[in-house]
Amino acid sequence: GGFLKFAETLTEKVRKMGGVVLFNTEISEIKSNGRVEVKTNRQTHTFDKVIVTLPSFFFFKIAPSLPESYKNKYSNLKGLGAINLVLRLRKQFLGDGSYWLSICDTSSPIMAIVDHSNFMDVKNYSNEHLVYLGNYLPADHKYFKMDKSEILKIYDPFLRRLNKDYAKELIDYEAFKVPFAQPIIPINYSKMIPPFVTPLPNVYLANIQQVYPWDRGTNYAVELGAKIADLISNDQI
Ligand SMILES: Cc1cc2nc3c(=O)[nH]c(=O)nc-3n(C[C@H](O)[C@H](O)[C@H](O)COP(=O)(O)OP(=O)(O)OC[C@H]3O[C@@H](n4cnc5c(N)ncnc54)[C@H](O)[C@@H]3O)c2cc1C
Repeated sequence: GGFLKFAETLTEKVRKMGGVVLFNTEISEIKSNGRVEVKTNRQTHTFDKVIVTLPSFFFFKIAPSLPESYKNKYSNLKGLGAINLVLRLRKQFLGDGSYWLSICDTSSPIMAIVDHSNFMDVKNYSNEHLVYLGNYLPADHKYFKMDKSEILKIYDPFLRRLNKDYAKELIDYEAFKVPFAQPIIPINYSKMIPPFVTPLPNVYLANIQQVYPWDRGTNYAVELGAKIADLISNDQI
């Protein structure tokens, strides 16, 4: 069922256990004097303990009372954002049956072309052929300011080299952008990983930058969540 099914099941389980899941609710500020105050675009909540799961850079933005020394220590952790286009086609894109094509040609504006219908039956996608055009870029890259049609215009000559008629089969397409998608792991990263405990009392951090030595992935996010929940509920941190 994919990640959507996973997220829906998790939400259902949390609600059944008495938890509340809020969507479309942006946290603008976190502060703590022992009781943790979380301000959102709707209201302010108070909690005994809070686990922040944002990349550290975004945590710094919403927690202005964090000491400069803490922010300086972890502000050098680098990462890449991601911009992905998903094309909905009437026909297969990679005609040789390839599922995943990684592109190592530096002149290409696309890093990976993934033709899902070469892996999963199209009946899973309303008989459409879904093609994922993956790209990891610095968050200040010009593509982040472009809309989907501007991005496709840049990709188009490269796509035509692989399938000259793809545009005739295009039903529609979407662009997905995320400013922090992939931590960059330098030498001695193990000494730079931000800890669970933060300088704000009862505010803990469990984020993508703590996944090491593995590459980030949903499995590791789940593992991290279980680990910090255990430590907090057993009063071990
Ligand atoms: C393009 C791409 C492809 C990937 N493919 C795979 C894959 O195939 N398999 C796999 O296992 N992993 C994959 N991953 C990695 C996986 O998505 C991450 O490892 C995982 O989502 C990390 O979970 P998380 O809960 O730590 O962070 P996230 O899933 O990033 O969750 C953080 C959440 O915080 C929200 N947020 C941000 N700021 C605020 C705010 N101020 N207020 C409220 N909410 C806020 C965000 O909207 C987001 O929903 C992929 C990642 C990317 C970017």
